[in-house]
Amino acid sequence: MKIVFATNNLNKLKEVQSIVPTHIELLSLKDIGCFEDVPETQNTIEGNAIQKAEYVKAHYGYDCFADDTGLEVESLNNEPGVYSARYAGPQRDANDNMNLLLEKLKEKENRKAQFKTVIALHLNEKIETFTGICKGEITKDKRGEKGFGYDPIFSPNNYNETFAEMDLDLKNKIGHRGKAVQELVEFLNTL
Ligand code: IMP
Repeated sequence: MKIVFATNNLNKLKEVQSIVPTHIELLSLKDIGCFEDVPETQNTIEGNAIQKAEYVKAHYGYDCFADDTGLEVESLNNEPGVYSARYAGPQRDANDNMNLLLEKLKEKENRKAQFKTVIALHLNEKIETFTGICKGEITKDKRGEKGFGYDPIFSPNNYNETFAEMDLDLKNKIGHRGKAVQELVEFLNTL
C-alpha cells in the first residue's frame, strides 16, 4: 500500500518510517513532485493536520496522512500550541523558540507541558484522525544534541533525560508522534 506522508521534515519522515510496517510504502512530498509549502493556516492542531491531508489529496490525488504537533505549556495557557513552529517569529528558529519559552517560564513554578500530535488520514474519501500525547515538563536549561525543535528542553514524565538526550527508539516508544503513529498503524492494519 502506498500512502503519502505530507511532510518535508526529514527527521519526522525517519521517525515515522521506522514505525510503519514494511508493507506500507511511505512516499514523501518530494516523491510525488510536491515542492510547494502545503498550507497550514488553521488555528487548531487538528485543523492544520486535516487541512494538509485534504490539500495533498485535492491537488495531487494521493491518499495521504499529515501531522501537526504543538507543545502545550500548562502555566502559559497552553502556549505555544498551534504556534509552536513560529513562537519567536517567522524565522521558525528552534533556538529562538526555546529561549523565548525558557524566558517566559523563568518566574513560574509549574513547568508541566505536553506535546500533542494529531495525524489526519485522508483515505478512500474519508478523514480519520489519531491523537498522541506525551506529558512531561520543561527543563531549566537545554540538554542534549539529538532530535529537533523543543527536544532539548522537554523531559517526559518518569525520565530524567530530555528528548534530545534519548535514543530515537525510546522517543518513538514514549513520544507523542510515536503514539499517534501507532494508532494510525493499528487502523491501517484493519483495512
Ligand atoms: P510541526 O507541526 O510538526 O511542524 O511542529 C510544530 C513545531 O513543534 C515545530 O517548531 C517543531 O520543531 C516542534 N516539534 C514538532 N515535533 C516535535 C518533537 O517531536 N520534538 C520537539 N519539537 C517538535
